[in-house]
Order: sequence, then C-alpha cells, then structure tokens
Amino acid sequence: CGIVAYIGQRKASDVIIKGLKRLEYRGYDSAGIALAQEGKINVFKKKGKVADLESFMEGKNYSGEIGIGHTRWATHGAPTDENAHPHYSQSGKLAIIHNGIIENYDSLKQDLLAKGHEFKSDTDTEVLIHFIEDIKDNVGCDLAEAVRLALTKVIGAYAIAIISEDEPNTMIAARKGSPLVVGVGKDEFFLASDASPIIEYTNEVVYLNDLELAIIKDGELTIKAVESDEVQTPYIQKLELE
Ligand code: GLU
Repeated sequence: CGIVAYIGQRKASDVIIKGLKRLEYRGYDSAGIALAQEGKINVFKKKGKVADLESFMEGKNYSGEIGIGHTRWATHGAPTDENAHPHYSQSGKLAIIHNGIIENYDSLKQDLLAKGHEFKSDTDTEVLIHFIEDIKDNVGCDLAEAVRLALTKVIGAYAIAIISEDEPNTMIAARKGSPLVVGVGKDEFFLASDASPIIEYTNEVVYLNDLELAIIKDGELTIKAVESDEVQTPYIQKLELE
C-alpha cells in the first residue's frame, strides 16, 4: 500500500526505510526493500511492520544507492514473508514493487508456467515481473520498453517501480489507478505514493498521470505514454515547504 524508491548518491536504505514509516498511515501487513549493490540486487522482506523489517536487516551486510521499498496490503496471497514485495523475475535480475491489482494475472501466469517459469509467491505482482522479463528476452529491447509493452497487455491497477541488474543506473516506474509521485532532486530522484517521504529532500515533484511511464536513466527523467510510446513533457510542481 506504499511505495518509496531512491536513485542517487545517498544510502538508499536510509531514505526508503524512513519514507516507508511516513507512509505507515496508509495501512499494510508486510514491508520489503530491494537494494542494488555492486551489480547485484538484494531483497529483504518481512511480514509485519517496517520496524520488523529493520530488525531483520540489522547486522546484515547491505548498502547501495539505488533501491525500491514497499509496504503491502495483501490482495493476492496471504500476508507472508514470501508474498511480501519486492519480487524477482525468473532470472533474479529484475525486482519489482507494486501497489494495486493485476486482474488478468492468472492467464498470464498459465502462459508463463507453460514456458517453464517458476513462482515463489502467490501474488499477481510476481507474475507481472516474470511477464516483463519474458517480453524483454523475446523482443530483445531494453527494460523500459519491456515494461511499456507488458503494461499494454495488463488489465488492472498499478503503481510500480522496477530495477535491473543489467541496467544498474536505471529505475522504471508507472502508474494506472494507484498514485505515484516522482521527486526531482539534484542528481537524484525519489518515487513515492505521496509526497510526504520526498519533501525533506526536494520540493520539485512530478505527479505521474495514469498510463504514464517514468524512465530514470543516467540522471535523466523521461516520461512516456504507456500506450503510444510518446514522450511527455513532465510538469514539475513546486511544493510549499513548511
Ligand atoms: N496485489 C499485490 C499483492 O497482493 C499488491 C498489493 C498492494 O497494493 O500492496 O501483493
């Protein structure tokens, strides 16, 4: 039920954990984070509170300046550690967080199962990231285009953020029906379900519209329409800081 993601020079886990706490009011049953560190993506996730995730991570070796964090309100699959987000793709190279519901996940899942995919959770979300990777491998396109193509086939509601081991300076996000805000800092970007995790770092935000894809790559933000692939001019709003 909450998304916080970061790409820049800060310690991503600090920004994300703090941000997830600010979103706790939205309600949730599990929390998790994926951090990109030296070309590997590490996932930490737990049923329970953000504080439980923090104690789970305590003493473990992690760092990274790119990360995606999530609080889950279970819709497909019980609230368990396995069903908590982030979820990996089949190869383990992509990781996703998702708020919302992929309504046609079951038919997508049947196709992927027939192709030999194996799933570790009961979520609709894990199906989506496997589907994205399948498209990426078949089409031979980059991550952003694979996400876009996948979303043209998805029925449902989503706010998503995705990172990849193969494209280390990249984060892809999109929304339809679930809120998502991009915070634009100096050589850094934030993503969140509302602006509250962002305002202490920057007052420049872009509220994504439905069916828009945000591509953050090598320090640049590009917004595209999911359906037409057209580049959109981002409308940067200035928030009033208290
Ligand atoms: N449908 C997804 C799940 O059950 C996401 C739920 C949410 O919005 O947190 O895992």
